[in-house]
Amino acid sequence: MLIDGFGRRINYIRVSVTERCNFRCQYCMPEKPFFWVPKENLLTFEELFLFLKVGIDEGVDKIRITGGEPLLRADLDKFIRMINDYKDGIDIAITTNAYLLKGIANKLKDAGLKRLNISLDSLKPEIAQQIAQKDVLKNVLEGIEEALKVGLKVKINSVPLKGINSNEIIELLEYCKDKKMQIRFIEYMENIHANKNIKGLYGKEIVDEIRKKYHLKKIGREGNSPAFLYELEDGYRFGIIDPHKHDFCESCNRIRLTAEGNIIPCLYFDEAMSIAQAVKKGDVEAASEVLREVLKNKPEKNRWDENPPEKELSNRAFYQTGG
Ligand code: SAM
Ligand code: SF4
Repeated sequence: MLIDGFGRRINYIRVSVTERCNFRCQYCMPEKPFFWVPKENLLTFEELFLFLKVGIDEGVDKIRITGGEPLLRADLDKFIRMINDYKDGIDIAITTNAYLLKGIANKLKDAGLKRLNISLDSLKPEIAQQIAQKDVLKNVLEGIEEALKVGLKVKINSVPLKGINSNEIIELLEYCKDKKMQIRFIEYMENIHANKNIKGLYGKEIVDEIRKKYHLKKIGREGNSPAFLYELEDGYRFGIIDPHKHDFCESCNRIRLTAEGNIIPCLYFDEAMSIAQAVKKGDVEAASEVLREVLKNKPEKNRWDENPPEKELSNRAFYQTGG
């Protein structure tokens, strides 16, 4: 079993399979980075899987594939199948912008994918384009329809930004409610890579907006999920992901693995340790030792709660860590 230095059980690995992306979201990767990790430095699926097996053997039962945009990586279904064939009952999910999903949702489900989190920030083509800096909405909505049609469970991630999509909170909520998908509104997490001019909404501001139209009941955090759930009178539940809140990290159960083999213990901080050499040599024992070292040093909490960390913005690039 994997336990970190603060007694938290780690049973969830988020694995980023590429840092590259076909969008340029204002809050994540507004400009193409000056430097991409060279393709030869990316771990193969076999190498990533070798590390995942170490985790699974120690009780990891939830794996999320993310990026950059994970659907850009060829043969993702084969990677999912490797994980699925290794052990029954692993909860395998993907976080995607869904731009490329339409043609492959069925193949991913057949390989063992259970769930998808899809990012959708606006239902207006021009606002979606303003945020992603590309005309994306039609493809994204078609991707969502396809995922639902093939029977995948879908949750929607949405980042409200002041003066851009903040007036669409109710519309996005109702779109998801109609389709029986949970929406999770994510507070914008300040970082040095994002467009300097954007400002997010705090969870409380998002909830206040929804309260103008609906009576809400507080439900609470569901297990180790970062989302705090609220319920409308008709039973529909939505979530708020509020890393600026002080209790956000108490139940953190996850670590992140990047496409080049760095294990990241906390989304906020720069610290990481590499398992690249270990998995390239097939040295399971060495990979396992690095993992234990990372867990020993996993920070107690992020610093987004320091309201806001103007002077010391997080260096972390969401497109590298996978959010
Ligand atoms: N490309 C995929 C996507 O957009 O869903 C997966 C990777 S993306 C980094 C994962 C999640 O991180 C997305 O839901 C995105 O909205 C969120 N995200 C990225 N940058 C963020 C930021 N600065 N603050 C809050 N959420 C962010
Ligand atoms: Fe790409 Fe996702 Fe980042 Fe947007 S949030 S730039 S889709 S990695």
